[in-house]
Amino acid sequence: MKPDELVEIAIEVDGEAAEAVVELFNRCNGGDWVEDSAEGEASGGGAVLESTGYDDLGNPVAGEYRTVVKTYLKPGPRGRRIQRKIEEGLWHLRLLYPMPEPVARVVKEEDWAHAWKRHYKPMRIGRRVLLTPAWEKPDPLPNDLLVRLEPGMAFGTGLHPTTRLCVAALEEWVQPGDAFLDVGTGSGVLSIVAAKLGARPVWATDIDPLAVRAAKENALRNGIALAPGIFRVEQGSIPAGQTGRFNVIAANILAEVLVGLFDGTFETVTLAEPLAPGGRLILSGILEEKSEMVLSAAARHGLKEVERRREADWVSLVVRSEDAG
Ligand code: SAH
Repeated sequence: MKPDELVEIAIEVDGEAAEAVVELFNRCNGGDWVEDSAEGEASGGGAVLESTGYDDLGNPVAGEYRTVVKTYLKPGPRGRRIQRKIEEGLWHLRLLYPMPEPVARVVKEEDWAHAWKRHYKPMRIGRRVLLTPAWEKPDPLPNDLLVRLEPGMAFGTGLHPTTRLCVAALEEWVQPGDAFLDVGTGSGVLSIVAAKLGARPVWATDIDPLAVRAAKENALRNGIALAPGIFRVEQGSIPAGQTGRFNVIAANILAEVLVGLFDGTFETVTLAEPLAPGGRLILSGILEEKSEMVLSAAARHGLKEVERRREADWVSLVVRSEDAG
């Protein structure tokens, strides 16, 4: 192999398996390209998610919609070690999710640098949100809410159906002046949309420090001040000591995690606690067949379904208290 070549490992996945493979690739091959002084080699780069098969309006086409997760390795012993770790990890994941074998091929280094960018174009979501990669010059309509994003390693480009479902729900349920909490903010996308819809204050949390950094940078990129009362990003999950504070809470995390957050499995605070009386909780990251499990967890806090949206195999749910009008 030539020095400007990389090994690309690609695997086509669907539904929840995509999240698990992204996590595996990021874990085995995460971070920036790091020089390994012992071997004089570099490795890293994380996972690249490519979804294709959308129509002109950005809706997935049944039978054509596909997600491929890729990662890129430098050639050499370190790259081969990482490749073996990935293959082992995929072997374990295959016990949980049916998946094809990964496909490895040699590509030019610039393919890696631009792979995900090529598929990431300005995208209209909901009625008037125009999500735009930071490096594009979009053409907004007068009423558009323009949101510029450089997701980096964090989740939340808007390419994923679960993000799009949440953005559409935010347009429906966020009123100017609402206090808004975003648990699992990733790139900050939902918090930025909420801030542009007039929510104040906006709080965003994520357990992943890379997400916290990306969310802060993206807020600034969109002209939003990182100031108390306006926009705040913290590493963590559900904030403690904020009982009844937020009119709208969004959490786009997998169904099992949402149930854990309702049941207090990970924290002493539950997802229902910071919700204001009559507040709306937007839940996403839920495969259709797991929606009942999430709704039962919400019902244990007196929250009932008031809206359901679908895209591909995913649903988003809005729940609020039984006695809210
Ligand atoms: N809100 C973004 C990103 C969703 S991805 C969007 O809608 O596109 C889910 C995010 O939740 C990831 O960034 C992950 O790091 C974070 N996360 C996972 N478990 C969490 C937990 N228990 N508490 C807070 N964040 C969590």
